Amino acid sequence: MTSLSAVPAYAAPTAKAPLERTTIARREVGEHDVLIDIKYAGICHSDIHQAREGWGEAIFPMVPGHEIAGVISEVGSAVTKYEVGDRVGVGCFVDSCRECEYCLKGQEQNCVKGSTGTYNDTDKHGAPTYGGYSTHLVIDEGYAVRIPEGLALDVAAPLLCAGITTYSPLRHWNVGPGSKVAVVGLGGLGHMGVKIAHAMGAEVTVLSQSLRKQADGERLGADHYYATSDPETFEKLAGSFDVILSTVSAVLPIDTYLGLLKVNGAFVNVGAPEEPVSVNMFSLIAGRKTLAGSNIGGIAETQEMLDFCAEHGFGAEIEVIDADQINEAYERVIASDVRYRFVIDTATI
Ligand SMILES: [Zn+2]
Ligand SMILES: [Zn+2]
Repeated sequence: MTSLSAVPAYAAPTAKAPLERTTIARREVGEHDVLIDIKYAGICHSDIHQAREGWGEAIFPMVPGHEIAGVISEVGSAVTKYEVGDRVGVGCFVDSCRECEYCLKGQEQNCVKGSTGTYNDTDKHGAPTYGGYSTHLVIDEGYAVRIPEGLALDVAAPLLCAGITTYSPLRHWNVGPGSKVAVVGLGGLGHMGVKIAHAMGAEVTVLSQSLRKQADGERLGADHYYATSDPETFEKLAGSFDVILSTVSAVLPIDTYLGLLKVNGAFVNVGAPEEPVSVNMFSLIAGRKTLAGSNIGGIAETQEMLDFCAEHGFGAEIEVIDADQINEAYERVIASDVRYRFVIDTATI
């Protein structure tokens, strides 16, 4: 049996310090809990924002990681959903109130009492939560999802954040055959947006700063690829899209992008600029356009997304690294020097 009082992990001791090897305590496996042997953990850009307190005061030491894939090695006495040996994933939250309107609708990410973050949060017992940059995790069975056979754990890990973040809005805005979708930015989120929108049957266009990744974009499923640095792009594509999914955190000229939508089209942000953006309301009024945002997805929809990806035979595009490369990987993520997600092999922690 695994000792849960000294689980190997990689943690940021403070906001200014590099991550380092340490041990953490996980709670004992309760009757509704499962113990997961973590195999892979993706590095999400939000790990870096939080580990460096870019989004405000954080809890240290911090073990980031909310793109988790592993295998169940122990189940509590009342667990019904899983057995030892099952392959599972954990995403951005590990608990919620379970009784509010949104929890009951399977939208736990919108829990009115706030869902419990996988890391940088406090659980209902008052203990800090620690994420996936570690070898083991104890979680209520209701907050894990099954990774289907045929989907390797390493390429599945990033689906738990980048996958669901892009799948959920594409589903919500009814993307399918006949839809014209633009994905802004071809990074960790954007590359999943392209793959998923393509698999849903849409005609997909990438709008990227330059044409540097055009060959990749087309390989991932893009039908068209345009540089946003070229002003002609915005003339050529005016009125073209049903949905524009923006995955970038740069402040975009929203009115210009709204001009690319068809009547009734939606511009959906999943990237989060730090600065407020301004919009001319006439850009929305003319053509009844929608400016929207979207935040991950609930447990049921995350399962649906994993099943969808398995059925279509794809995971994320990844670069597997050892734990001692985490700090270097952070610098490369900031420099957009990753195609398209770093995934930590947790056996090296
Ligand atoms: Zn994330
Ligand atoms: Zn709730």
